[in-house]
Amino acid sequence: MAQTQYKYMDMIHRCFRCGYCKFPQDWEDVDNCPAYARHRLESHSNGGRLWLIRAWITGELELTDHLAEIIYSCVACKNCEEKCPLSFSDDILNMVIAARAEMVAQGRIPSPVKTYLKNIQLHGNPYGIGAKKRSDWMQELSIEPFEKQEFLFFVGSEGAYDSRAQHAARALSRLFQKAELSFGVLGNDETDDGNEVELLGEEGLVEMLAEKNIASFNERGIKNIITLSPHAYNALKNIYPRFGGSYQVYHYTQILPNLIQSGRLHPPKLENTTITYHDPCFLGRWNREYTAPRRVLQAIGGSKLIEMDRNRKSAFCCGGGSGNYYTDLLGGSDDSPARIRARQAHATGATILAVACPNCLTMLEDAVKVEGLEGKIQVKDIAELIDGESAS
Ligand code: SF4
Ligand code: SF4
Repeated sequence: MAQTQYKYMDMIHRCFRCGYCKFPQDWEDVDNCPAYARHRLESHSNGGRLWLIRAWITGELELTDHLAEIIYSCVACKNCEEKCPLSFSDDILNMVIAARAEMVAQGRIPSPVKTYLKNIQLHGNPYGIGAKKRSDWMQELSIEPFEKQEFLFFVGSEGAYDSRAQHAARALSRLFQKAELSFGVLGNDETDDGNEVELLGEEGLVEMLAEKNIASFNERGIKNIITLSPHAYNALKNIYPRFGGSYQVYHYTQILPNLIQSGRLHPPKLENTTITYHDPCFLGRWNREYTAPRRVLQAIGGSKLIEMDRNRKSAFCCGGGSGNYYTDLLGGSDDSPARIRARQAHATGATILAVACPNCLTMLEDAVKVEGLEGKIQVKDIAELIDGESAS
């Protein structure tokens, strides 16, 4: 890549590979960066990755398939930004995303990432399932299409297509119906939110997706949007304004506390239950929302909320960001991030691991199974816990 094309050329050399971005709280624990935790190689920490990117930009290193995999091994959790002591810390992830954009332009990206992006381009979702099936998840629920309701429920690709996440989407819809919330959906007119597409560096596709969703919102006069996924929440709140779409966007955990407090929703009692909560990166570090999900969980009668050692801004990531819940570039090991996080949750003694993200839900539930923890700890979306129904 020509040095002049790289947006962060005057900044990237400032990373002096101190390694602070690898450590969460003390020097004994090195599980801060999920990619580094998985591979235990300096190249997969943010400092190492930035040095490799710099060597590529300055022509000292060729862009090989291996280098491409290293650059794509970052799951955009922002844990490194929390720990980097330098003033440029807000941009250390942007430097990786900018390198990916150049790799996309050159067509040099790992093949699972290529498939992920191609599916979204062709079908509007990463699963490669036809757009006409986007509404299948809600068949028995009598959910109205958006017309003039107060809120749009933006379901997202995972809630619409992934069987486990569909369960959470149905639970949340039932809650809205029980609370008589005025809401509607876009149905088959919704398309992927584009959050992961942005992180993977496909700038043209992000624009296309954002413009399509923004056109659907504006045609219907939509002002208020509730998302199931923190990834969609981040895209609609922080990316869409760049393309002219500004709305009041809520993650669903920001809506439930008021519905509970005003008596429109009645959380079930879960006697003698201990719950631990996993902060999703795109609600937590990306958008600083740590309180609302905990308020919802604290409203569950008979249960006790206990924290993992790594919580709030220090929470370890499940490894599902940046499309990795689909591409699985960090899977296949005892040290895959979801398995580490499942062990951290189990260590609290909790019997329920509550999540607020469809990606975390599938990543952590699979990890609990692989770890042999089924029957000891159950992974549940907060919407499922409040809904209280076990069948979809
Ligand atoms: S990104 Fe920041 S914390 Fe990490 S090695 Fe570079 S300077 Fe150090
Ligand atoms: S954003 Fe997360 S995965 Fe990426 S380098 Fe930073 S800590 Fe590692």
